Order: sequence, then structure tokens, then C-alpha cells
Amino acid sequence: MTINTQLFDRARAVIPGGVNSPVRAFKAVGGTPRFISRAQGAYMWDAEGARYIDYIGSWGPMILGHGHPAVIEAVQRAVTEGLSFGAPTEREIELAEAILALMPSMEMVRLVSSGTEAGMSAIRLARGATGRKRIIKFEGCYHGHADALLVKAGSGLATFGQSTSAGVPEEVVQHTLVLEFNNVAQLDEAFALHGADIAGLIIEAIAGNMNFVRATPEFARRCRELCTQHGALLIVDEVMTGFRVGLGGAQGVLGIRPDITVLGKVIGGGMPLAAFGGSRAIMEQMAPTGPVYQAGTLSGNPVATACGLATLKEIAKPGFYEALGAKTQALVQGLQAAADEAGVPFCTEHEGGMFGFFLLPELPRNYASVMKSESAKFNALFHGLLDRGVYIAPALYEAGFVSAAHTDEDIAATVAAAREVFAKLR
Ligand code: PMP
Repeated sequence: MTINTQLFDRARAVIPGGVNSPVRAFKAVGGTPRFISRAQGAYMWDAEGARYIDYIGSWGPMILGHGHPAVIEAVQRAVTEGLSFGAPTEREIELAEAILALMPSMEMVRLVSSGTEAGMSAIRLARGATGRKRIIKFEGCYHGHADALLVKAGSGLATFGQSTSAGVPEEVVQHTLVLEFNNVAQLDEAFALHGADIAGLIIEAIAGNMNFVRATPEFARRCRELCTQHGALLIVDEVMTGFRVGLGGAQGVLGIRPDITVLGKVIGGGMPLAAFGGSRAIMEQMAPTGPVYQAGTLSGNPVATACGLATLKEIAKPGFYEALGAKTQALVQGLQAAADEAGVPFCTEHEGGMFGFFLLPELPRNYASVMKSESAKFNALFHGLLDRGVYIAPALYEAGFVSAAHTDEDIAATVAAAREVFAKLR
């Protein structure tokens, strides 16, 4: 029995499925999860001492790579000053100012501890600010596990969604309308039918929870126009894309201005930190200035904010995203060439430090077409890479992440590993 298998058995005895977040259990791809004991730069080491080139980066936050010296120093200094006060600190102001300086659509921001909390609070704010109930979301977009957002498409536009989780009563999701991503005609129809009741529309403008699917420019524009016309709030969930696809997030790439932006992952640099923000008029609806309640014992935590601030300082340096984007491009081009050589249907997408690939002949535009990927082939690719020391996300509907710590050699080694695996996949 290997050490990872022993740990997995021990974990499953005391933690449901052995994990504290389901995708880590390797359920989709099969096999034993690697129990990680440490990480540095672009690498993680498991409990058996095996090294992996890490393209998950803690699912997005580790944009500088693991253990960046400036980040570690800031966190260590913060730790010695105190772990949590439950009272305001100057560092929270600094982080808020740093975020607002980089995201022009936001005039005020509230810090929380997870993307789920931020998304849930953004929905409550949209409902509170508009006095309406209904929410639009898109199939394949994930916004955390708040009840109202755990919804799959209903059977038609007149019917609202069905919950995707046990424990979420249909009454709780009855105001959530789930539409197809990138379907302009359906969006038009939904607003024509329900426009006056829609509080907000929430979207991952570059969706990273169905691998990597961009909103078309036309679709993104139409989301903005329809929200404006009908008095609904446009909520762009940038938990994954914020400071990841570029300094201005997906909204910068697509040129849309949301009413509310949801952030997480990179802004915490690996510590529990997320945020939501928007115009002053909307954000002042939040307690204590307004009637929309939201709170958190650890919100704006002094160690997490130190980590986030140090991370933002690094990524705001000139040339950061150019260098990161070039690495990501080299990776996806190398993978594409390796797949082409082997005659494996393959296509890729990337922006900044985020990438996706599909074992499909052409790029999908929505969830249904992403799911046409053959999972058996993906699983073989995943395990082939893992066995060769390359750690990609263990599910075909997850995006990948490159960090500033990945070197040309890491990328070349990854492509070489992929070439060997593709040759077997044909
Ligand atoms: N929104 C998006 C777009 C996400 O990708 C995620 C997490 N992957 C969340 C929200 C939820 O964030 P958290 O896991 O921090 O609750």
C-alpha cells in the first residue's frame, strides 16, 4: 500500500470522501488523490516525495507560484502582529484601495472569506437594491454553493430551475432562471418574459467552471444592454478570472462594465479572502449603511489581507501579464502541437494565466458542447500526465492555471510528457 493510499483510507474514515472539497477526491478520473505535503514555486510534492509541476495553483490563487518570498514575508510579519481582531484595520483599507485602483467598475468593496460568500452576498445585494426576486444564471457557470445558485436548467423559459443538490428545496431555487451560455436569442426571450422581475444576472464572462468558454462579445454586450434596459443588475463573477486573465479581469478583456463584481482566489494570494463591489450607490445598500445584511467574524482578516496585498503588489508590476501570458501561450501551443502529431482531436483556449483544452475538434461555446468531450480519454490523459509528474485539474470541466514561477523548462517538460501520453491515446 502506498502512503497516498494509506492517507486516503485514513481520511475517508473521518472526512466525507476523504476531502474537504469534492473535486479533490479524484472521483471523476478515478484513482487515489495525492496528499500534498509542501509546495514551492511551480512545484508540489506529495506525501511520498513525488514532485509535480502544478497547473492547478490551489484552483487559481497561486498566480505568483508557491512560497513567493515577498508574500511569505508579508504573511509572517502579519502573523506576529496578531491573527484576528474582529475590528477594523488599516490593511483592509489598503487592500480595498488597491482593488479599486485596478478595477474601474468598482467604487466600493466589501471583503469576505470565500467566493461562495461573495457570490451569495452579491445576489442578496442585487435583490435588496432592486426590490426584485428573480436571478438569471447560465448553465455551466459556477458561483459557489449558495442555495439559490445550485441550480440546473429547467425545462423551458417559463419554468425556473431545479436544484442540483439534495438539501436545496425547490422553493429556494424557484426564482433562479438558468439559461444557455452564449445564447442571445434565449436571453432576449427571458428578459421579454420576465424583465420587470429580474433583480440580477450573474455570469462568468470567461467561464472557468466548464473548462474555458468565453462569452462571445455579442453575448456579453447583450447581457449589459438587457440589464440596463430592464433595471436589473449585471453581476460579473470574477472569482476565477479577476487578476488572472489580466489586471482588469474578464470585464477588461470583454469591455463590459458590471454593476457588481465578485472577486476571490488571486486577491487572497492563497489565504481565505474574497470580495464583492460596485458603485457607491449600490454598495451603500449594505449594512451598516443600508438594509442588506451581511457580516463575517474573519472578514478582512489581517493575515489574509497582508497576503492579498503582497500578491497584488507583485502582479501590478509592469510586464507581469505579458510574461505570464507568453508562458501560457507556449504551453497551449506545445500541447496543441503534441496532440496534432499524434492525430488526437484537440483544441485550446487561454487568456493571461488561465487556459483550457478540449479533446474535441473545435472549441465549445456552451456547457452541452463541453460535455461532449470523451471522459475516458480525458481520464487517460490526466493519469498519464500525473504519472509523469504533471498535475492538471482532475476533471474535464475545470480550467488550468500557469503561474509566474513556471519556467520554460517546466513547460517543455510538460509538453514532452503530453507527447508521450497523446501517442497512447490515439
Ligand atoms: N465563483 C467562481 C467563478 C468560482 O470559480 C468559484 C470557485 N471555484 C467560486 C465562485 C466559489 O469560490 P469559493 O470556492 O472560494 O467559495
